Amino acid sequence: MPPPARPGLGGLMVRPADYPPPFRASDYVGEPTDPVDDRIEVGVLVVGAGPAGLSCAIRFGQLLEENADLAENLGDVPLAVIEKGKQPGSHLLSGAIVNPVSLRRLFGPQFRIEDVPGYGPVQQESVCLLTSEKSMRIPTPPPMRNHGNFIFSLSQLGRWLSSRAEELGCMILPQTAAVRLLVSAGKVVGVRTGDKGRGVDGEELARFEPGNDIVARVTVLAEGTQGHLTSVAMNHFGLLPSDPQTWELGVKEVWRVKKPLDRTIHTMGWPLRPEPRLREFGGSFIYPMGSEMVTLGMVVGLDYRDSELSVHDLLQQLKTHPMVWPILEGGQRLEWGAKTIPSGGFNSLPRNLSAPGLLICGDCAGMVNIPTLKGVHYAVEAGRLAAESAFAALKATRSGGDESRFQSALGSYDRAVRSGFIGRDLYEVRDMRQAFGRGFFLGGVISGVMAVSRGRISIGKMRSERDDAQPLTTTDRSSRYPKPDGALTFDKLSSVFLSGNKTRDDQPNHIRLAQEVPVELARMWVNLCPAHVYQIDSEPRDGLVSVKIDASNCVQCGAISARGGRLTPPEGGSGPEYSLS
Ligand SMILES: Cc1cc2nc3c(=O)[nH]c(=O)nc-3n(C[C@H](O)[C@H](O)[C@H](O)COP(=O)(O)OP(=O)(O)OC[C@H]3O[C@@H](n4cnc5c(N)ncnc54)[C@H](O)[C@@H]3O)c2cc1C
Ligand code: SF4
Repeated sequence: MPPPARPGLGGLMVRPADYPPPFRASDYVGEPTDPVDDRIEVGVLVVGAGPAGLSCAIRFGQLLEENADLAENLGDVPLAVIEKGKQPGSHLLSGAIVNPVSLRRLFGPQFRIEDVPGYGPVQQESVCLLTSEKSMRIPTPPPMRNHGNFIFSLSQLGRWLSSRAEELGCMILPQTAAVRLLVSAGKVVGVRTGDKGRGVDGEELARFEPGNDIVARVTVLAEGTQGHLTSVAMNHFGLLPSDPQTWELGVKEVWRVKKPLDRTIHTMGWPLRPEPRLREFGGSFIYPMGSEMVTLGMVVGLDYRDSELSVHDLLQQLKTHPMVWPILEGGQRLEWGAKTIPSGGFNSLPRNLSAPGLLICGDCAGMVNIPTLKGVHYAVEAGRLAAESAFAALKATRSGGDESRFQSALGSYDRAVRSGFIGRDLYEVRDMRQAFGRGFFLGGVISGVMAVSRGRISIGKMRSERDDAQPLTTTDRSSRYPKPDGALTFDKLSSVFLSGNKTRDDQPNHIRLAQEVPVELARMWVNLCPAHVYQIDSEPRDGLVSVKIDASNCVQCGAISARGGRLTPPEGGSGPEYSLS
């Protein structure tokens, strides 16, 4: 049971950023260490089997099919994807209403979106403003219109994409986490994968397997949200964005339901509170998955201030609303999961999406349009463009061209992203998320004007602050969360079970946190984590406590990295096993 708030805490005092985790990006960059003959050599190495990485692999595979001579020149393994999840799709979680434009571009004119396993086109949609008892339907704001888009499970889409990549000759290495960026003579030359089979204190267990250096001519980072090596690379190559990146946390459930849901629903308002001082931005989504399932989720900006806010519990509260519980009544919860979404938008993109030997695409670069809650089609398009630049670079130097031609071809990727629809779309909504930092109502007005004018009317560049720079406050929010009843509402531990989490509980802790911290900060971490990883395990001494970490519960959502800690990749194969999310 967490200790009570310090008296007089209502003042804004503690900021997570003042208690940084013991983590140095430079520890995760280095020269290859395996003897040359022991290194695994590949042509193009993609880190992450999400929509961005797999689309990159598919496009590069298509280009190699048309250019067999280049494929030969790239050795035994011209193309490989490494993925930390048990299999492709295991760590993929999304809404997921997908704009099909990029899949059509990737697969060409014969492609039919209806042939991809999914749940069909969006039929009807509604947007509702909620109070605790009532819901009011409002006209659908332009960014939330989903006509022409399709509903998928992202983990299933990921599995389908990975089969397409394998058909094109790509080697997929699941259960393999990239932990270190290999840099030699100022150029990225691959990654080092994590060891397996270490014990809690780092000791080698009987099943110990050391990691490997995988060296590549081009390395593509497609790690998704809170990419570990992406942040390391951005630090190393000076690519940190002009505005700090910010994140939202999404917690979602998939239910088998008795009655089909005939429309997609987005909600705003309750259970979030509108006061600007609390900075509670977000909403919920409720989507049908065919006639038998429904997915629903709560998404909340991680710049909130109340240390008692828990997105998992807000989702439980949402389900008790008179508009929501009848949708789920008599149904069964099948899956639960959580993940962050980058929300900084255009001004938080890395300064450059390439560095020597390296390309960065998808969520790890922050390619998400928050007002539309869309990132999948940007990830697919960025992956395709990355493959084309990697191909051009390798082709330019195949017959002995110099290094500058190689790097200039890789550099064309950054221009292609910014001048294409990814750059254009993100520019149009560039300040919308920041506007909500001014409160729900003022933010709504500002973003509405920007949406209608397609970004031409803006009130000027808005200041963006790091999520962990917000001072904490404490309200009585947690007293209003519903008690888990095991039928409609659930606690965190039973939810983690439904994520299929398979993390070994005798492996080293992969979460980095400051040791002794103010009670308010510790309480914020306890409430923040949807997977019940943190517990306060000491009485306050001079207002400071220590935090116990049950790392094996972690579903790798990434929220802790936005709020004063640091998620590093655990042993490959750990974490959730999503199949419907
Ligand atoms: C709750 C929620 C709802 C959303 N709703 C929608 C929606 O309705 N429509 C939409 O278009 N978008 C939506 N999004 C956003 C969308 O899901 C993302 O933009 C998209 O998945 C990004 O794809 P990606 O390939 O860049 O990253 P990801 O999908 O995150 O994939 C990255 C992959 O890389 C792997 N990986 C990461 N680091 C490493 C490493 N070091 N070593 C090995 N493997 C690694 C991960 O395990 C993962 O499989 C939503 C997101 C969330 C969280
Ligand atoms: S420990 Fe951190 S990364 Fe893991 S589930 Fe909890 S908040 Fe997310």
